[in-house]
Amino acid sequence: GSAVEVDPGVEVDEENAEQDLLGGLKVESTADIEVPDRLVDQVIGQDEARDIIIKAAKQRRHVMMIGSPGTGKSMLAKAMSQLLPQEDLQDVLVYHNPDDGNEPKVRTVPAGKGEQIIDAHKEEARKRNQMRSILMWIIIAIIIGYAILTANILLGILAAGIVWLIFRYTSRGTDAMVPNMVVDNGDQRTAPFEDATGAHAGALLGDVRHDPFQSGGMETPSHDRVEPGAIHKSNKGVLFVDEINTLDVRTQQKLMTAIQEGEFSITGQSERSSGAMVQTEPVPCDFIMIAAGNLDAMENMHPALRSRIKGYGYEVYMEDTIEDTPEMRRKYARFVAQEVERDGRLPHFTRDAVEELILEAKRRAGRKEHLTLHFRNLGGLVRVAGDIARADDKEFTEREDVLQAKRRSRSIEQQLADDYIERRKDYELQVTEAGIEGRVNGLAVMGEDSGIMLPVMAEIAPAQGGGQVIATGKLQEMAEESVQNVSAIIKKFSDVDLSEKDIHIQFVQAGQQGVDGDSASITVATAVISALEDIPVDQSVAMTGSLSVRGDVLPVGGVTHKIEAAAKAGCDKVIIPAANEQDVMIEEEYEEMVEIIPCSNISEVLDVALMGEPKKDSLVDRLKSITGSAFDGSAVG
Ligand code: ADP
Repeated sequence: GSAVEVDPGVEVDEENAEQDLLGGLKVESTADIEVPDRLVDQVIGQDEARDIIIKAAKQRRHVMMIGSPGTGKSMLAKAMSQLLPQEDLQDVLVYHNPDDGNEPKVRTVPAGKGEQIIDAHKEEARKRNQMRSILMWIIIAIIIGYAILTANILLGILAAGIVWLIFRYTSRGTDAMVPNMVVDNGDQRTAPFEDATGAHAGALLGDVRHDPFQSGGMETPSHDRVEPGAIHKSNKGVLFVDEINTLDVRTQQKLMTAIQEGEFSITGQSERSSGAMVQTEPVPCDFIMIAAGNLDAMENMHPALRSRIKGYGYEVYMEDTIEDTPEMRRKYARFVAQEVERDGRLPHFTRDAVEELILEAKRRAGRKEHLTLHFRNLGGLVRVAGDIARADDKEFTEREDVLQAKRRSRSIEQQLADDYIERRKDYELQVTEAGIEGRVNGLAVMGEDSGIMLPVMAEIAPAQGGGQVIATGKLQEMAEESVQNVSAIIKKFSDVDLSEKDIHIQFVQAGQQGVDGDSASITVATAVISALEDIPVDQSVAMTGSLSVRGDVLPVGGVTHKIEAAAKAGCDKVIIPAANEQDVMIEEEYEEMVEIIPCSNISEVLDVALMGEPKKDSLVDRLKSITGSAFDGSAVG
C-alpha cells in the first residue's frame, strides 16, 4: 500500500479475522475506533484515486474524476486541499480607482494582511469623518449664533439645514477610501476548497452587483459591489466542479481562460445591469481544478476544457465495489466511526449494528465477495439508524436501529415495488396454491436495489402462416430469444414443431419502467413447456435464471433482491441459478419465509415448478435424458 495506509488503532484478532464480519477488530463499539485526522486517510478504497490526488497535490496538477455519485470524489478533492501548502495563501483587496470608477484596482497581499489594511483604512475614514462632523457643527453653531444675534431665526435654521445636507451627501467620498476585501484567508488553516458544483456564472466567475442608484450621489461605489467567484476564492487551493457538463458552454470557455491565465477580471454577469459596466483589474485565480462526473458527463464536456485538464493533469476512474477482505471490513467499521464523529450527535454503533451495516455493504455490492463503495448512501443509513437510536435516548445505536433504518430508507424503486405488491393484493393477483397452465411467476429487478415479481403467461395457438412469437411491450426481443432457446430443447423430446405455432407471451403488468427482462428466460421456457404439454405450474413458486440452448440454467444479476420480492409476494419456493448461490444475502426476516432452490438445469426447474404426476414425471425424465450432460454427450458423440 501507500504511505497513508492506516488501520483503526485497535487490536486485531488475526486468527478469526477471516470469519469475523469486523475483520477481527477487537472492539465493543465504534467508540473504540480511532478516526484519522487527515481526510485523505479517511478515504476507504479508491487507492488509485487517492494516490493520484496525493501526487497531483505535490505537482499542482488538475484532476478529472469519473465515477458514480457518493464514492468520494468531493471528499478526495477536499482532502487534496489539506495537502497543499498553507504559506502561499493570499488576501485580495479591491480599491476604488479615482481615475476611472468603473475599473477598480486589485491588490494581493499575504493572508492576514488584508484585515490590517482594512482596519487602517477604516480608522483613517473614521478620523476623517470625525473631523468633518466637528467642522460641520462649528459652522452650524456659527450660523445659528449669527441668526440669533440678527433675530433671523427662520433663515438661520434653513441655512443650518442646508449645511447639514451638504455634509451628509458628500460623505461618500470617505467610504470610497476603504477597500473591499473579496478574498479573506486570514483565518484559513488549510488551502481553500471551493465546491462550485451547479454554480451559476456569477458564483463561479465573480460578479458586480447592480446598483439601483447609478447617479445622484447615492450610489454604492463600484469597488464595493464587486463579489468574488469560486475561482477567486479557491486561489492557491482546490476548485471542485462535479457534473462539469452542466456548466453552459460560455462559462466552460471562461473557466478555461481562467485556468490558462491564472487570473480573471471580475465583471457584472447580467448584461443589462449597471454591474456590467464595471470591470476590475485581473484577480488571481491560481487554483487546482478537480472536475468530476459520470462517463456521460465526460462526453458532453467542452472538448477544449477536457483536453486542457487532461493535458496538464490526471484522469482517474472511481471504483464501485471493492474486494471483501478482513482488512476492508475493518475499514468499513472505521467508516461507521467516521460518520458518527462527523455528524457529532449520533450515538456510536455496537458491534452487532456495525455487522449489520457491513452485511448491507455486501448486499449492495451485488457482486460476489465484494463490498459496495457507494458510501454516501451507506452514510445515509448510518445517520438514519443513529437518529432512530437517538430518538430513543439510547447510549448506542443497535442492530435493531439499523434494521429499522433500512426499512425506512427504501429507495424510490423499492417503495414503488412494495406499493405495486400492495396494489396487486387488492386485485387478488397474488400467489395461490393452485396450479395454472402456462403461467409462471418470474422475477425482475427494478432500479438498482429492488426486486419485483412479474408473472409470465404463455399461450400456444396454431399459426395462420409461419409461426410467430408475440410478446407484449419492450420485452419482445427477449421473449423471442427465450423461445428460440427452449425450442431447441423441445425439438428433442416433443413431436410438436414450434415453428408452426404462434406463441403468445404476456408479461402480466410489465408496464413498469426499468424492469430488466434478460434474466427471465427460464420463466418463459417453463411457461411455454407448461402450455405446450398442458401441465400446470405451481403458483407458489417463483423463479429467475437465464437459459442456454443446451438447457443449462445460467447465472443472473440481483438474485438477493429477487428472492426478497418473491418472499414479500408470498411465494413458498424460489428457484435461482445454482451459480448464483454465493450471491444470496437476504435478510433474516425473509429466510424463514421462502425456500431457496438452486438449479443448474431446466429439468430441475420443471421438476420443482410443474404439478400433476405422472405426466410431469415422464416429462422431466425425458428432459433429463436429453439435456445437460446427456445432451452434451450426444452432441459430442
Ligand atoms: P461524490 O463527490 O463522489 O459524489 P462525496 O465525496 O461527496 O461523493 O461522498 C459523500 C460522503 O460519503 C462523504 O462525505 C463521506 O462521508 C462518504 N464517503 C464517500 N466516499 C467515501 C470513501 N471512499 N471513503 C470514506 N467515506 C466516503
